[in-house]
Amino acid sequence: MNCARCCTPLRLLLTVDTTEWDGGSGSWRPVEEPEAWGHALAAPTQVVVGRWGELNLFACPADPAHPHAWSIQ
Ligand SMILES: [Zn+2]
Repeated sequence: MNCARCCTPLRLLLTVDTTEWDGGSGSWRPVEEPEAWGHALAAPTQVVVGRWGELNLFACPADPAHPHAWSIQ
């Protein structure tokens, strides 16, 4: 993804994910979390991005005043 103003490749600035860890498959979980599985335990803020995805915000490294871009995965 390139900057709309100067065409410099954008850099990932921030990711907002629906879950802190994979509550569905149990591929991993923090050792501090209880043994139980499930999306409710993995999403304590209950902020859902899109369809349980993640929001990525991108910024231009050449000039922070250039417009940001975003994508939802
Ligand atoms: Zn730019």
